[in-house]
Amino acid sequence: MEKIRVKSPIVEMDGDEMTHIIWSIIKERLILPFLDVDLKYFDLGLPSRDATDDRVTTDAARAIREYGVGVKCATITPDAERVVEYKLKKAWPSPNGTIRSILDGTVFRKPIMAKNISPAVRSWKKPIVIGRHAYGDLYRGVEMKIDSPGRVELVYTSPGREEVRLPVYEFPGPGVVMAVHNVEKSIRSFARSCVNYALGEKLDLWFSMKDTISKKYHAFFREIFEEEVAARKDDFAKAGVAFRYLLIDDAAAQMMKQEGNILWALSNYDGDVFSDVIAAGFGSLGMMTSVLVSPDGKHEFEAAHGTVRRHFYGHLKGDTTSTNSVACIFAWTGAIRKRGEIDGTPEVAAFGERIERAVLDCIEGGIVTKDLVPLMDPRPERHQTTEGFIDAVAARLRAAM
Ligand code: NAP
Ligand code: MG
Repeated sequence: MEKIRVKSPIVEMDGDEMTHIIWSIIKERLILPFLDVDLKYFDLGLPSRDATDDRVTTDAARAIREYGVGVKCATITPDAERVVEYKLKKAWPSPNGTIRSILDGTVFRKPIMAKNISPAVRSWKKPIVIGRHAYGDLYRGVEMKIDSPGRVELVYTSPGREEVRLPVYEFPGPGVVMAVHNVEKSIRSFARSCVNYALGEKLDLWFSMKDTISKKYHAFFREIFEEEVAARKDDFAKAGVAFRYLLIDDAAAQMMKQEGNILWALSNYDGDVFSDVIAAGFGSLGMMTSVLVSPDGKHEFEAAHGTVRRHFYGHLKGDTTSTNSVACIFAWTGAIRKRGEIDGTPEVAAFGERIERAVLDCIEGGIVTKDLVPLMDPRPERHQTTEGFIDAVAARLRAAM
């Protein structure tokens, strides 16, 4: 069988623990036997980040900027415990945070659906994707605890301009206060990324804030978002994609009654809360993919879950594991499909789809890992091992080639 040639390189970022184990099995059995592809490999596993003083992470992010498409394995974000476990020079920052700030991107999370796995919310038939703004608001808030009566003010100073002072509250007794901010540039690139994603995936775009209450802060988000949508009005019409602005509470209630096929763009806090609501509503973490999209159309694909540490420790002890590899496989297929689309090589994109079909055929045929068993109807009698599932996908893929 002749391999399918991929025209341009894909940036590959390896990672840690159980997902690192899964990663090499996927590559060896589902990708390399079928594709002739130039993988620009970066080892973002914790030992390699430590050895390079984390330069490998910034190098990988720059490579995504250069080649346009990347696929990433889950990585450990070290805390004090990991510094000891891995004998690190220091607690290196989250690779995802580093990559996100270099690409100035927005993260989209999308559930993978199969016919025999029913979402907890009965009306959901197609994916609901969350686009979360990943800068500012509560996450960059400045807070103060007030323990006795006093006055709090908001003060703005700028060279050559008159000072602006707003009373916040005259505290009669103890209380709390917080100041939050956001910046136009970040909101605009968030809006652009959402517009690109919705048009690319042909999903209706919803955006929600609370601008009836917050007439400046939230209204600013709404204005910018609507400007960016208006700038692409013709593309929306051409793609048959609709845009709706709804108040956040209205949107939350409406979403329960939708079939799906919607990109729900949300502010940082709302996105944090609702991405967990949506993930739980659809089923399992092992079935949720994540893609980082920059405003100029660079894409980085990964699974939404972490390194599945608990399973890895079992694996190290020699236990047989049953870790779901579906989101990791779909990270690869997302990258392959995007590569084919950008390069104008439909046979490459079609191969990505073929892997996805093989995965769904397995699940729909009752071949699944342990986490999915309780979500299924009918329930399969047995489950696969980590490797057994990927082998079953490989067998179906070979049969389809
Ligand atoms: P996790 O890897 O998301 O796993 C948490 C639990 O969720 C697992 O123990 C497992 O539950 C279940 N689970 C998640 N993915 C699964 C899969 N594919 N198949 C089956 N079950 C799955 O989170 P964690 O173990 O708490 O975190 C481990 C490391 O991941 C941390 O060091 C963190 O920094 C890192 N992390 C990285 C990323 C990223 O790179 N994008 C994201 C999040 C976390 P059971 O144990 O009950 O089976
Ligand atoms: Mg959260």
